[in-house]
This record gives sequence, C-alpha cells and structure tokens, in this order.
Amino acid sequence: MTPQDLRGSAAGKKIGVLTGGGDAQGMNAALRAVVRTAIYAGAQPYAIREGYQGMIDGGDGITPFHWDDASGILNRGGTVIGTFRSKEFITREGQLKAASNLVNLGIDRLIVIGGDGSLTGLNEFQENWSGLIDELLEQSRITAKQHKAHPKLMCAGLMGSIDNDLVGTDMTIGVDSALHRIREAIDAISSTAASHQRCFVVEVMGRNCGYLGLAAAISGGCDYVLVPELPPEDGWEKTMCEQLRASREAGRKDSIVIIAEGAITRDGKDISTEHVRSTIEESLGEEARVTILGHVQRGGTPSAYDRWASTWLGYEAAAHVLTASGDDPGPVFGLHGEEIVRLPLVKAIADTRSVSGLIAKGEYDTVLAMRGTEFTDLIRIFTELSKPKRTEAQASDKRIGIIHAGALSPGMNTAARAAVWLGISRGYQVVGIEDGFLGLASGEIVDLTWKDVDGWTQEGGAVLGTRRHIPTVEELYAISRSIESAKIDGLLVIGGWNAYEAVALINEERSRYPALQIPIVCVPAAIDNNLPGTTMCIGADTALNHIVDSIDKVKMSASASQRCFVIETMGRDCGYLALMGGVAGGAEQVYLPETGVTLEGIRTDIEWVKMSFDTHGRSFFLAVRNENANHNYTTRVLAHLLDEEGHGRYDTRTLVIGHTQQGDAPSPADRLLATRLTDSAITHLGKQISSGDKGILCVGTEDNEVYVSKITDAMETTDPINQRPQEPWWLPLKQIVDSINREPE
Ligand code: ATP
Ligand code: MG
Repeated sequence: MTPQDLRGSAAGKKIGVLTGGGDAQGMNAALRAVVRTAIYAGAQPYAIREGYQGMIDGGDGITPFHWDDASGILNRGGTVIGTFRSKEFITREGQLKAASNLVNLGIDRLIVIGGDGSLTGLNEFQENWSGLIDELLEQSRITAKQHKAHPKLMCAGLMGSIDNDLVGTDMTIGVDSALHRIREAIDAISSTAASHQRCFVVEVMGRNCGYLGLAAAISGGCDYVLVPELPPEDGWEKTMCEQLRASREAGRKDSIVIIAEGAITRDGKDISTEHVRSTIEESLGEEARVTILGHVQRGGTPSAYDRWASTWLGYEAAAHVLTASGDDPGPVFGLHGEEIVRLPLVKAIADTRSVSGLIAKGEYDTVLAMRGTEFTDLIRIFTELSKPKRTEAQASDKRIGIIHAGALSPGMNTAARAAVWLGISRGYQVVGIEDGFLGLASGEIVDLTWKDVDGWTQEGGAVLGTRRHIPTVEELYAISRSIESAKIDGLLVIGGWNAYEAVALINEERSRYPALQIPIVCVPAAIDNNLPGTTMCIGADTALNHIVDSIDKVKMSASASQRCFVIETMGRDCGYLALMGGVAGGAEQVYLPETGVTLEGIRTDIEWVKMSFDTHGRSFFLAVRNENANHNYTTRVLAHLLDEEGHGRYDTRTLVIGHTQQGDAPSPADRLLATRLTDSAITHLGKQISSGDKGILCVGTEDNEVYVSKITDAMETTDPINQRPQEPWWLPLKQIVDSINREPE
C-alpha cells in the first residue's frame, strides 16, 4: 500500500505498540515508524510501556504517543518505551486485564516488536481475544457496546533480536548493529594480538543461533569458530590447535577464535571460553586471552541498516494492521534481501523455537536448511578460508589475475583478500595487478601469496590501487601483451562503473586480440550502489553508515539553535546514498536525480519548513541532496533559497560530506558481501578456466542470494547514460520519507 492510499484512511482507529524481551538497536526506529505511519494515516497511536506489563497495568502504562514523542529517537539504541519480561501476561488473568485496558481505551490494533517470547505472547493473545472479551463482558468489566465494537484483535509482529534467530528472514532488528560492535572489538583486538603474537578467544552472543559468531569470524578474518548449529566433532580441540599452529607457522601473527555463547559439543555440553583458552595455552604454549563482549553488543547507536530496515518494517507493519480486518491471524514482518516478507506468526515462531530441540537431537542438516542460504554459504566459505594455505601447496599452473578499476570503494581489499585465499585454496596461482587497467597495460603485476594479503579483510582503501581510467582501444594491445606475458588464464575485476565499461569494451574488441580471450568475472564494488546485475554493491553500506554518522553529528551541532541544513552526498546520478541516508538519518526531504528537483517542489518544501517552524515549534530541518540531483539547484542554491525565504526564522548551513564517504574501513555487511560475491566469482572463473569457456560474467546479489549473469544481459537492466539501475528496489522508500519524516500540516 502506498502512503498516498494510506493518508487519512485510518481516521478513528487506535493502535498500540510495545517492545518486549531483550532490547535491540533499531527498536526505536521501528517504533517511530509505526507511530508516524499511524498519525499519517489519521489513527491515534498509543505507546505501551515496559512490554506487556504496561498493557496489564493500564494508566500510565498505555499513553497516547504523538509525532514529537517519536522525535530524536532514530539514533538511539535500546527502546525508549521500555521492555520487561512480564510473568503475569502468561496468565489468563493478566491477559484479561490487558484486554480490558485496551478495550476501555478503544484500542484493538497492536504491534509488538520483540523476541520469540514476545511474539509467542502476541500470538496467544490474539488467539484468546474473543474468549477474553466474552469473559470480560460476563464479568461486566466491559459493556456490550464495547464488546461489539472490538470483536477482533488486528496485530503484527516485528522480530527484534540481535541473535538473528527468526527462521524465514535474513536479518532481525539489531543484528547488524551488534555486528558493528563486534567488528569494532575484533579489529581492535586483532591489532593488539598481532603486536604480541597472541591468541584471543572472543565470545559473542547467540544462544541458539550462530549467525553473529559466523559473521564475526568472516568479517574479522578470524581463525576458528564454534557455533551452536554445528557442534564440533569429537577431538575438535586437537584439530583447532593444529589449525592455529599451522597458521602461525605459515606466518600469521595473531589467532582469534570466536565462540557463540550457545556453542555446544555433540553430546550437548556447553563449550566454555575458559576451556578453549586453557586448551590453546596448553597445546600451543603461548598466552591466550579471553574477551567476552556481552552487552556491548546490544549497546551503542543503531547502524544505518538497522535504521532504514526497521523504519521500512515499521511502516509496512503499521500499514497492514491499520487496514486489516482481523479475519486472518497477524503476520510477522521481516526482510529477505531487499524485499519485505510477511510470515505466518504461528509457523515462524514454531520453527524458530524448534531449533534448540533439533540441535539437541543432532539434526544439524535440518537446522542449517532452516537458517537459509547466506548462513550455509558463510559456513562453507569460512571452513575454506580458515585453513592455512601454504604457497607450496599450489597444485595447478593456472593463474588468476585480480584487478581493481573504477572509483575506490571500501571492501575492495576484503574482496581481493578473499580472492587470493580462495584462489590459492582451489589450486590456482594468484597475481595482483596494480593501478587498474593502466597498471595492466604497463605490466605492473605481482605474485600474491596468502600471507601478503593477511589483514586486508579489515582495511579500507585498495592496496592494489584502483584507477577510473577506461583503456583506449590502443591500450588494449599493451593489455593483451601483459596478459600474455604474465600467463593470466582468468581475470577477476573488482570495481565500479568504469570497470564494467572497460570490460564491456574488452568484450567488443577482443576478437582482434587472442590474449584477451580469457574468462573474466566482475565483482561489483561501488559506494553509489549503481552497478549492473546486483541489488547491492560492495562499499555502499559502509558509505551509508558514514553518511548517517555525519547526519547524527550535524544534528548534534545544531541542537542548540534554529537551523536548516542541506547535506550533500556522493552517488553521481544514482540516488541510493542520498535516499537511504535520508531514511536512516531522519531527513525531512531528499533530493534525488531519479525524481528531480523543481522550483515548485522547492517552494512547497520551504512553505512547509516555515509552517513547521511557526506552528510545530520545529527547530531543525534537514534535507539530503545527492550531488547530481539537479545541475542548477545546487546544494548552495537550495541553502540560499531556504535562508532567504526563512526571513530570520532560522539560519542555514550546508555540508558536503565528500570523499570521506569512501574512506572508512568496510562495514561488517560489506565484508560479508565482498566475501560471498568473491567466492562465487572464483568458483565461476575456475569452472570457466577448466571448461575453456571464455564468457564475461558478473556476480551479484538479489534477495540475499548470490547469482551470476552474463555481463551483456546485466548491462541491459541499467540506464547507461545515467549509470544507474533502471528500476531500483529502494526508490519506493522515497514515499516513506515523505510520510514518516515530515509531520502532516
Ligand atoms: P529475547 O529472546 O530477546 O529475550 P523475548 O521476547 O523472546 O526476547 P521473553 O522473555 O521470552 O523474551 O518474552 C518476553 C515476554 O513475552 C514475556 O515476559 C511474556 O510477558 C511474554 N510471553 C512470552 N511467552 C508467552 C506466552 N507463551 N504467552 C503469553 N505471553 C508470553
Ligand atoms: Mg527469546
């Protein structure tokens, strides 16, 4: 349902929202979206405080929530309406009290943001609803009129859990932020561990789900991981120590073992960090230290993903509940890749809760199948990556070249390192080409061993160098000579738009150069998120986090004054960064190349800003503008117009975030994406090398699955003039900015 359809459609309806169980970053973003969607639709939202307990207590436990109550919470961790584990809600009397309080306030719509327990509670409450209100009528706790007015409970759940344990979706609310905290800790630990040649055992959360552990191990470039879904074989201690020792002997400076808090042995016994630590110390004869990350993982500000995804989920859940008839049981909403999915609450919870039993019964394959493709991909890739690779183990004489091209994107190093490790592990020799296609033309080619790239996972930038230069037809001759003399059998191109253009050119011209007739696979890396054949590019998430961080700081800097800000993001002709930055940063307006900027639109915006400062007591307005949104209405022009027309209501500032957007260490999501895409690229390149296929392919992701397509087919889904996707999945979120980020007049 579009915001236009929703606008004013729910007048007179009342909707409650609560957060339950353990808190998770992003819960506030979801709460804010629910509240504001309800107001936009004309309904009255109510905050239910301290989880289900507020519903039972009534009074201050259930209070109307206004537009402003949801202001300034998007960037806050935890939950501003509190959470509590209410034992009373599990009892009939507790639920009777809760139903009576809701009915007395006229609320029969409910959204619960919480873990499996909270969603189980929601399911029971909904199933019990008609019995509860019958009993309340019998006991004269509600009137016959009330009984008739609220025959059904319309509801929906959102899974807030840093464990990522909901079966059927990719990411629950809070997981990505937890991964950011873990990433920060592991990056810090690995620098000290490397200085002292020390081993660290790091415990992360995850009682029944090893996602955090596995994702941490891959994105931190760690050596060994223990997760609940895959209890290790008997004698694992020996294998682990042998693996750590071999890594050290082959030149790795530090060792990090990740253990999920729910890790168990095959006979169901807990594996303690202390056991792992002492085993390593005894076997390796070197100091091993334990770090238990604990509640740090739940803390801190939510990541960009947890803000935009939770906002979108909150919007969809509220839109559903406000228009539901109550004939069908309420669903749980989640994200599968870039798509909102609606799962039946009962089944989703039953599946989620069945996992611990299946693990106890040793049905690991069933559990892994329930976890989905990303999880199984990560297990497979980590198993391969974590084995030490000695250069002398190289079996084949086939050589893979790695090259970057196009603008710099964080995560290029992660992809290059994965390519070297996986390439060597699969028996290839891997060479690095320095400085893009210019470097290839002049023969800047170096052999890479796994030791050379150890540590690249965490690093921003691109050690191999990247150039935006697209080779000229004349340079193709030199390039073909270099490929020939370096005996390159397959080329892995990790880069942005210019990399794809260069490869397209090679495709057109290579009939004239036999040496260029080798298989080529492109891996998409561009902060603009604009490349063919994929819904997400490596680096976009990192840049987005940088933008959101800048927005938070800008808001803080303006908190003591009346101010309008126009922030300019990168993106060239693709609005991804500006739009998602606006959604995740809570901007009141975003200016995108896809939707254009008109004088009429600017006038409407300025009138709205003045109205909002005058009548709603607004003291801050933020517009995010993509650098190419409009050639004439530049960031400066927009700021001047706002300033001039504000007549002293506020002052106006601009911020061009600039190249710092390319400069961060890759985010956990970008490291995982880089690793998965590169794994697939090396697999395809390998297959092509052995079969003699010379096709040019590109890897990409859609709905969190990795797939490969012919570059010529992928190019057809993009707009070559503007260098962006023809139908971006994220563009509809613009309407959410219009409905959730700007209060109605
Ligand atoms: P997390 O998994 O992050 O701890 P959670 O939502 O699973 O979050 P729980 O303590 O299991 O946390 O559940 C939260 C609350 O949900 C409970 O305190 C209780 O009020 C309610 N609840 C849980 N199970 C039921 C149930 N079977 N019937 C009614 N209410 C329930
Ligand atoms: Mg739970």
